[in-house]
Amino acid sequence: MKRLEGKVAVITGGNSGIGLASACMFAQEGAQVVITARRRDILDQAIEVIGHGAIGIQGDVASLEHHASVAEELKRRFGGLDIYMANAGVITLQPTAEVTPEDYDAQFNINTRGVFFGVQSIAPLLHDNASIILTSSLAATKVLDGHAVYAGSKAAIAAFARNWALELRARRIRVNVLSPGPVDTAIIGKLGISDEHRPDFLKLMSDMIPAGRLGDAEELARAALFLASTDSAFINGIELHVDGGMSLG
Ligand code: NAD
Repeated sequence: MKRLEGKVAVITGGNSGIGLASACMFAQEGAQVVITARRRDILDQAIEVIGHGAIGIQGDVASLEHHASVAEELKRRFGGLDIYMANAGVITLQPTAEVTPEDYDAQFNINTRGVFFGVQSIAPLLHDNASIILTSSLAATKVLDGHAVYAGSKAAIAAFARNWALELRARRIRVNVLSPGPVDTAIIGKLGISDEHRPDFLKLMSDMIPAGRLGDAEELARAALFLASTDSAFINGIELHVDGGMSLG
């Protein structure tokens, strides 16, 4: 029996990196996968890759209207859902002195507010025993240069998870955090590092990771699958560090 047979799983930002790898794995494990992304064309490409009847809903997680339309669409098509993975996220590395209110709002609106209101809007539709997975970051626990705003936007996630795990206990809904270390996805290309300096940057990161390398999106997807499935049925409110040991030192 597949591990997510008969389950409806929603993954925000499911068109790329960790979200796409998780969407593919959840679909292979029998879930009806629904992904969200901002652009219709990339949504359509991702749906092709995921296969298994996956569907896409276009929109921006920073928008409350988008979350309302996701909830409406889920209710109409499936009646409810079993897995919600709040995965969409952005990063801009900047020293604090250079951060503008616009930079600050852009990261918090997507990484923090987007997670909060996404969960708020789908919570009434979650079936009993559902699993919520919130993607945070190693940066929420380990201090890294230029990460103050991003780290702050992700640090709230663990607090949300712990509060929601108790708020939703009557329905046996579990809420856990997936906390990736550096993973070689598109987000690395958005750090403002030129192609020329990318190999040096990746080497520097690898040297900081006890595993001696960056993570792979599939390794994160496997951890997400664990949190989504009954394999983790007695685990609630935790932060699962999938970072090759980088948070240790
Ligand atoms: P990625 O850039 O491949 O994926 C990010 C996804 O978020 C994309 O699908 C993107 O379209 C989506 N997204 C961004 N803004 C959005 C918005 N406003 N509305 C809807 N979707 C939006 O990068 P990834 O590495 O797969 O990142 C996934 C999550 O993992 C993010 O939350 C990121 O912060 C977190 N993370 C990544 C790493 C890493 O090293 N890759 C490390 C720690 C945490």
